[in-house]
Amino acid sequence: MNKNINIQCPICLNSELRYLHTINVSAWAIIGQNLERQEKEFKLHECVHCKHVMCIGDYSEKTFDILYPENFKSVAIKKRPDIYDNIIEYNLSFLQDIPKLLLADFGGGEGDFINKLLTNNFFQKNIQSAIVYEKHPLTKKKNIKFIDLDFNNIKKSGSIISEFNYAFCIHTLEHLINPREFLNFLFKKNKNNFYLYLEVPSNELIDIKNSVTLIYPQHIQYFSLKNLFFLTSSIGFELIKAECEETEGVPRIKCLIRKDNRANISIKEYLNNKDDLRNYITKMVLSGLSQRKISLWGVGNELYEIIKNHEGIKKAIISEDILLIDSKLAGKYLYGTKIYSPKELVGKISKIIITPMELPTIRSIIRDAVRIGFPSEIIVDPYTLYRKEIL
Ligand SMILES: [Zn+2]
Repeated sequence: MNKNINIQCPICLNSELRYLHTINVSAWAIIGQNLERQEKEFKLHECVHCKHVMCIGDYSEKTFDILYPENFKSVAIKKRPDIYDNIIEYNLSFLQDIPKLLLADFGGGEGDFINKLLTNNFFQKNIQSAIVYEKHPLTKKKNIKFIDLDFNNIKKSGSIISEFNYAFCIHTLEHLINPREFLNFLFKKNKNNFYLYLEVPSNELIDIKNSVTLIYPQHIQYFSLKNLFFLTSSIGFELIKAECEETEGVPRIKCLIRKDNRANISIKEYLNNKDDLRNYITKMVLSGLSQRKISLWGVGNELYEIIKNHEGIKKAIISEDILLIDSKLAGKYLYGTKIYSPKELVGKISKIIITPMELPTIRSIIRDAVRIGFPSEIIVDPYTLYRKEIL
C-alpha cells in the first residue's frame, strides 16, 4: 500500500492507493537539429477504499505535449460514428423537451458531434447556440464556435464558459487530472438547471491488467459506473439514467445527469420557505385573476393550502374565475364548481398555474399539457419561478 499524501482519489478523496502496474511511453523530441527519445513512466494505482483506478505520473504541460502530439486524435471514438448516433438517441427525448437549447460540448474535438446535432431534424430548430470547448483545437469547422479551454486548469480558465442548458462530455473526463474539480466547477459556475451527458470508457468492461488498447497514460482515470455515480452525486448532480454497454469494441459508461436547483434544496430550507412559497403562489393567482381567467392544475394538498391562505381564491373558484383542472378528479365538484379534465379546456384558457410541488408530478403535468395541445407559454410552474427568485 502506498500512502501518498499528495495524490487523492478523485472519487472518495482518500489517499491510500495500491500500486497495480507500470506504463512506459516514449516520444521523439526535437532538440536543435537532433531527435532525442524522451521516456516517461506512469504508474497505475487503485484506491484502497473505492477501487477507483488512476494513472499517476508527471502530468506537466511538457508531458502533455508528449502525450498529445499535434496529430493526436481520439481514434477510439472518431472512427465509430455509430456511437454519436447512439448518444443522440439516448438524449433525444430530453433534447426535444427544451425549446431553447444552449449546447456545450466539453472536449468536443473538431466539432464532429456538435455538427451531427446541428443537422438533426428532430430538434435542430430548438438549438440557439452550440459551443465546442477544446484545449488548443486544431481544425475548426466554420459553422461552429470553438473556445480554447484548459480542462486541467479550470479555476483559472473557466471564466470563458458561456451559459448552457445541455452539455456533453464524451470520452473526456478520463483524460483529466482532477475530474471532480472540473465537474464541481460546472455545477457551481452555471447557476441554472442543466443536463450533462457524460461518457467514459468503462473500467468494468475492460480487463485492466491484460488489456493494452485502452490503458495508456492519456487515460488518467478509469471509471466504474458505481464510482462515476458516486462522484457526480456527491457534487450534487441528480442521476437521470446510466448504463454500460460495448459498441464496436468500445466499452462505454453512458450517464445522463442533471443539475436541478430544486432537487438540492434541503428539507429544512424547504420548510422555512414553505409559507413564503404559498404566499408567492397566492399572490401570483390573485394578480393573474385581475387580468383574465386562469386555471389551477392539480386538486390536492397544495391547492387546499392556497385556498386556506386567502379567501379570495375560494370565491374565485365558486364564481369560476378560477377553473380547476385535474385528470383524476375530473367530473367531480368542489364548492359546487366542476373540476375539468385537461382536454375539455384546450383553447379555452390563457393561463395554467401548476399547484403540486413534487418535481416528477410537475414534469409530467407539463408534458401532458403540451401533448394535449396547450401552448407551453401559458403553463406556469410557480415553484421554478420562486426558486429562481430566492436562489
Ligand atoms: Zn477512492
